[in-house]
Amino acid sequence: MKIVRIDAEADDITYGAVEPDGIRLFHGSPFFQWERSETVLPITEVKLLSPVIPTKIIAIGKNYAAHAAETNSDVPISPILFLKPPTAVIGPLAQIKLPPESENVHHEAELAVVMGKVTRNVPIDEALSHVLGYTAANDVTARDLQRADGQWTRGKGFDTFLPLGPAIDTEFDPTEPHTITASVNGVMRQDGVTSDLVFGVAELIVFISKVMTLLPGDVILTGTPSGVGPIVHGDRVEIDIEGIGVLLNTVVNA
Ligand code: MG
Repeated sequence: MKIVRIDAEADDITYGAVEPDGIRLFHGSPFFQWERSETVLPITEVKLLSPVIPTKIIAIGKNYAAHAAETNSDVPISPILFLKPPTAVIGPLAQIKLPPESENVHHEAELAVVMGKVTRNVPIDEALSHVLGYTAANDVTARDLQRADGQWTRGKGFDTFLPLGPAIDTEFDPTEPHTITASVNGVMRQDGVTSDLVFGVAELIVFISKVMTLLPGDVILTGTPSGVGPIVHGDRVEIDIEGIGVLLNTVVNA
């Protein structure tokens, strides 16, 4: 199932699933209790929002060896965690706004894990059962500010710096290899495979849930493959993960 969150009418935000005829609306929330409704809306009549509003986003640094190498870093011996604020989240087709504080904003294509259960100290053989599904993310980064500050809160934390979507795929298997790409104006910049993750999804959930309780809807960004690069005003950025779909956003000066 592919779960979307939609703005069907001005103030009626709700969840649904992608079906051949359109979006089947849910009663309730996929993170708690829900059931399918009788209502199916044509996909042309709905605006897709980010498929989740997380209480927190835990991101992983340098989790593909080739990306660690392009930043002149070693592969870490344990996952490097940082947080992005929920206010950075935007949905499909929304605009990434380049802040005047930065002259070098980069795209980072990432597989995003969407948690489905309250998760604390989970054993590795149960970790994936706590996941609702997977979506695509762009961990937008002001590279100059990230380097200047020595830590990443400002460089990664601007409003609009986390496009998510288009849907949460509940059948995606993170233990299988899936291509993950980023294209800018139709030119491929990043071309990786999710099986090249240094620390896999189950390992990450175990590691993070020893530190902080993961709540339903929380998002883990699993890191980016090599090929990160700048985006500028007017660009169209597409993150494409095999099995999940394409997350398209445009870029404007704030
Ligand atoms: Mg990243």
